[in-house]
Amino acid sequence: MSERRVYIAQLLCPKRHAILGAAEEFDTAEAAEALSKQLEQFYSELVAAKVCRSSCAICQSRDFHIEIAVTGFRSMAEAKPVLLETERRNLAAQAFLKSHRN
Ligand SMILES: [Zn+2]
Repeated sequence: MSERRVYIAQLLCPKRHAILGAAEEFDTAEAAEALSKQLEQFYSELVAAKVCRSSCAICQSRDFHIEIAVTGFRSMAEAKPVLLETERRNLAAQAFLKSHRN
């Protein structure tokens, strides 16, 4: 049985620091696997453009893996406010870490 849901893919280091994330609607978990390739491709482009580091900014690991999870949201419109708030908090945490790095 398929049911439209928002899936989230995260690029994580071994300590589960999130490097990058992406979300999209899919009908099945199998279809959502496409997010993995998209996230890998996007991350490669960001590293090549020097927008992203090639290591975790917190623990310096270069060993990443992707996890895909289903959310309770049925549409991106429904998920967007929560995703934007999470993004805002992550950017604030990133700015804090940058300003307190030796
Ligand atoms: Zn890390």
